[in-house]
Amino acid sequence: MPLLAKRLDLIQPSPSVSAMNRAKTLAAAGEDICNMAAGEPDFPTPPHIVEAAARAMRDGATRYTATDGTAALKNAIAAKFERENHLAVTTANISVASGAKQIIYNAFTCTINAGDEVIVPAPYWVSYPDIVKLNGGVPVFVTAPAEQRFKMTQQQLADALTPRTKWLVLNSPNNPSGAIYSEGELRGFAQVLRDHPQVHVMTDDIYEHLIYDGLVHSTFAHVNPDLADRTLTINGVSKTYAMTGFRIGYASGPVELIKAMEKLQSQSTSNPAAVSQAAAVAALNGPLSFFAEWRNAYKMRRDRVVALLHGKAGLDCPTPDGAFYAYVSCATQIGKTTLGGKLIKDDSDFVMYLLDDFKVATVQGAAYGISPAFRISFATSMDVIEKACHRIIHACKALR
Ligand code: PMP
Ligand code: GLU
Repeated sequence: MPLLAKRLDLIQPSPSVSAMNRAKTLAAAGEDICNMAAGEPDFPTPPHIVEAAARAMRDGATRYTATDGTAALKNAIAAKFERENHLAVTTANISVASGAKQIIYNAFTCTINAGDEVIVPAPYWVSYPDIVKLNGGVPVFVTAPAEQRFKMTQQQLADALTPRTKWLVLNSPNNPSGAIYSEGELRGFAQVLRDHPQVHVMTDDIYEHLIYDGLVHSTFAHVNPDLADRTLTINGVSKTYAMTGFRIGYASGPVELIKAMEKLQSQSTSNPAAVSQAAAVAALNGPLSFFAEWRNAYKMRRDRVVALLHGKAGLDCPTPDGAFYAYVSCATQIGKTTLGGKLIKDDSDFVMYLLDDFKVATVQGAAYGISPAFRISFATSMDVIEKACHRIIHACKALR
């Protein structure tokens, strides 16, 4: 009898986590790697948050807490949703887990029966389809290519819905494309969904503050209050507060679902780490004024990436509206051969070529459902960005 369960064959290791780890391992071994694979802020966690965590530990935040979040954190989250997203929610609507990733995992595990369909617009963050599959569900991909500015249309949504559809996943700003849905587009989706009362909406707003050029973030439940009771609004402290290692994500949603997620969590992690929850309280109740500087730095980096890559050596790098990723088409590189005689068959080959021959770590478009492309994270210093982009252009020019 094999040791491992069959359902594990349905998924692959997270490609973004793998790429990040590969880059870190090579750098630790002394290689001169430009790491453009890491999907995490390079800024240090603000000192007032780190200090709050240290203080909390000294004050005894070293024990189990309430299963799906302390009262202090749920209150801070309810206030955040009200203040930043204009959502009127009570603490009974709130769940806290060890990262937004675990929130997504909990929500799908609590709701998906074998064969249930989940609509996932592509390009998508790598973990949605695999968590769906692990739970016996079927991801239904809707392709939103660069020509559509990486956005699903209302008609595409209407065409993808079936009686088996359980969830629609929306992620705006999007990882990996940076695409942002406007209020009007979110209204359009709601118009379609009103005829399909069995469908719930999972909206992943984790990049909400990473938004450029005066654009604004809108969240589905605010724009469509009549559908709030079938919307799970997901967020976390990882990206806004540079707290990826604290592992705190949260959501607001219908009480029935929130309670189910609590039950599941009571049989898995028991609760998110006490000290991390205390740090998240300090983050959410504290100032966000520091973020203007970060946003500005990200914007300058974005502009530099686009200036260095777009239209150069056959690359197509549309300007992302949000998040800290650029999704670059490498269509013109496919079918070419490296100096060493290796054929570049697809974007996975191209990404491995960039890493092996030019020491630039990126992630292949195949992982995000739109190929041939690669994802660059610009959550890194301008020096690394300059060096990486020059290496990428050099790599493209070296192909025959
Ligand atoms: N959603 C998206 C779109 C992401 O890019 C990430 C980054 N890992 C997450 C969710 C999960 O974030 P975390 O688990 O660190 O809260
Ligand atoms: N979300 C980040 C990324 O896409 C971190 C890694 C992960 O959790 O996938 O790179």
